[in-house]
Amino acid sequence: MIDLPLVARGKVREVYDAGADRLLLVASDRISAYDHVLPTPIPDKGRVLTALSVWWFEQLVPVLDRFGATHHLLSADDAVPAEVAGRAMLVRRLSMLPVECVARGYLSGSGTAEYQRTGSIRDVPLPAGLVEGSQLPEPVFTPSTKAEVGEHDEAIDFATVVSLVGPARAEELRQLTLALYRRGAEIALEAGIVLADTKFEFGLSGEGRLTLGDEVLTPDSSRFWPAITWSPGAAQPSYDKQFVRDWLTSSGWDRVSPPPELPDDVVAATRERYVTAYEKLTGRSFA
Ligand code: ATP
Ligand code: MG
Repeated sequence: MIDLPLVARGKVREVYDAGADRLLLVASDRISAYDHVLPTPIPDKGRVLTALSVWWFEQLVPVLDRFGATHHLLSADDAVPAEVAGRAMLVRRLSMLPVECVARGYLSGSGTAEYQRTGSIRDVPLPAGLVEGSQLPEPVFTPSTKAEVGEHDEAIDFATVVSLVGPARAEELRQLTLALYRRGAEIALEAGIVLADTKFEFGLSGEGRLTLGDEVLTPDSSRFWPAITWSPGAAQPSYDKQFVRDWLTSSGWDRVSPPPELPDDVVAATRERYVTAYEKLTGRSFA
C-alpha cells in the first residue's frame, strides 16, 4: 500500500494526493473493455503504459513550447514510492478542463458509426466514400465530454467546447490538439505505426498555464495500427485491446454480466501487443 491519501480510483489507474500541488498517478495492470474491468490483469501493462507516456511527454515538448504550454510530468523515477516504481508518475496537480480533446487522422470506431449515419462527426463534415480505416484528408478535432463515472463519453460540437471553456481557449485546444496529433502521427509512422486517433486531456496549472495532463499516446488512449497491414474497408489489426475485445465477442459474453477470465494465451498475446507497441515506438527494449 502507498502511504498517501487516495483521491480517485479509475478503472485502470489510482490517483493519490502527493502534496498541495502534486498528484501521483499509478497505472495498474488492469484492462478494461466495453466499460468493464476484466477480472484478469495483463502483466506489465501498467509499466508499459507509464514508460510510453513518459517517453511521449519528452517528444512533445517542442510542440507544447510553440503554444506556450507545458506537460504535467515532474518525475517518474526518484520521487516515486518503491512499491509502484515503473508504473507511477508524479505530476503537477491541474484544474482539468471539462473536454476530452480527440484528434482523428483516420476513420474508426464511433467516428465511423456517426459518419455512416450523418456524413460527419458532429459539426465536422467529411467527404463522401470513406470507410472504416480510411485516412481523412486532414486530421480533425472531434472533442467529447468527460463522462461522469459509469457513463459514456459523448461527442460534442465545437460550439459546446466554446460554451464550456470560452472561445479563445476552445480555439487554442483545437489547434494544440491537432498539432500534438500531427507530431505524434509523424513519429509513429517513422516507427511503422499508424496513429489512427487519440485523446488528450488538458488542465490549468496553479499559475494558469495550459498543461497537457493524464496519459498520452498510449494504447489505452489511442488507436495504433501496424502500417504494413493498413488497408481501409474493415477493422484494422491493432496494438491495443482490440484483440481482447474480439476474444470477448467470440466468447459469447453479453457485455452486461461480469466479464469472463481471459485464457492464458489471450493474456500473453495482449501483453505482447502492448510491449511491441512500446518497443517499436521508442526503439528501446522493454526490460
Ligand atoms: P475510468 O478510467 O474509470 O473511465 P477516469 O478516466 O476518471 O475513469 P483514470 O483515467 O484512471 O480514471 O483517472 C485519472 C483521472 O485523473 C482523470 O479524471 C484525469 O482527468 C485526471 N488527471 C489526469 N492528470 C491530472 C492532473 N495532472 N491533475 C489533476 N487531475 C488529473
Ligand atoms: Mg481516464
